[in-house]
Amino acid sequence: MIDTIYQELILDHWRKPHNYGELEGHTHKSAGINRSCGDEMTVMLKIENDIIVDVSFIGTGCAVSKASTSLMTDAIKGKTLKEVEELFKEFHTMLTADEPYSEGLLGKLTVFSGIKGYPSRVKCATMSWHTLKDALNGK
Ligand code: ZN
Repeated sequence: MIDTIYQELILDHWRKPHNYGELEGHTHKSAGINRSCGDEMTVMLKIENDIIVDVSFIGTGCAVSKASTSLMTDAIKGKTLKEVEELFKEFHTMLTADEPYSEGLLGKLTVFSGIKGYPSRVKCATMSWHTLKDALNGK
C-alpha cells in the first residue's frame, strides 16, 4: 500500500515530530478530534500580515495523524494564507479525488498518496488540515 521509503518518512515524523510543543504568542489555535481513530491534535499558529510566521502542534494519535500534522507544519511555515489554501486543496485532491494534483507543490506531502482509497486513514491524514482551517477561521 505505502512505498517503503515513504513509510519511513511517516515513521520518522511520528517518532520525532517537527514543530511539536506549545507556541508562545500564537494568534490562532484550534483542536481537532478524529473519533474513528482516537486522534487528537491541537494546532497553534502565529500569523503576521497574512503569513504563517510560526506554527506548532501538540496531541496524541496514530502514526499517520501525527506524521501528517508534523509534515503539514513544515509545509505551511513561512507561507501566505493563500498558498496554504492552495496546498490544502491539492492535498485534499490527492487523497479524495480522481483529478491530477501538483506533486511539485505538495513535495513531501505526497508521502500520503498511498492511503487514497482507505477512508479511515484519509481521515487521519486530513484531520490536522481541517483543524488548521478551523484555526484560520477562528473556530
Ligand atoms: Zn489515526
